[in-house]
Amino acid sequence: MHFIIHFLHRGAVFFPIVLVLVSTVMSACNSSVSATLQESLSPSENIVTDEQQEIVVINGTTHKIPPQWIGKKVIAPELNYSDFRQIPVKYTHKGSKIYILATAHQPLVELLQAAEKEGITLQVESAYRSERYQKRIFKRMLDKGRTFDDIIRYVAPPGYSQHVLGTAVDFFPSNWRFADTPDYAWLRENGRLFGFEETYSQFNSMKMQWEAWHWNFIEK
Ligand SMILES: [Zn+2]
Repeated sequence: MHFIIHFLHRGAVFFPIVLVLVSTVMSACNSSVSATLQESLSPSENIVTDEQQEIVVINGTTHKIPPQWIGKKVIAPELNYSDFRQIPVKYTHKGSKIYILATAHQPLVELLQAAEKEGITLQVESAYRSERYQKRIFKRMLDKGRTFDDIIRYVAPPGYSQHVLGTAVDFFPSNWRFADTPDYAWLRENGRLFGFEETYSQFNSMKMQWEAWHWNFIEK
């Protein structure tokens, strides 16, 4: 059991991060990360929704969810540690320990292997992130003096990220540069064959910001 806890702590230290921007902040804070995947799987908290206004409470401060996110709260399924599989570290950025839902694991590995055979070296930068983890990202950035409105331009509010489903993947680099890579061109051509879809494509009907690096497993 001790080994497992130790393993989980180590895993949490390198747990996935969505943006290079966030990565930078995180790298300075890695030593303070003590959450485990199991802790992350605890029930969500502090998200309040009423018919008038959606809000999120971080560090005791109430923040209004901006209009583009209203109505887009992602309801996380009840997940357990055994529902997840680790993505092979040879395919993760900096060999990080990154987890994805078991149902999406094999299709993802097949996608990564197929890309590799064609000379495309896709690296996963992030996959499963709990609402609690997403909130921790915000806390760190707020603590560094960033404003909620600024952070929300790059990071989905806690409770609104598709990563809580355990099926979404961010490829490296998870920022606007990804759209210009051969990796992205390959995914556009082949991602769907493996059941992965670009959720926030360039001209998505949700009118959300384009996230070329973010792909979600739907089905094969
Ligand atoms: Zn993402």
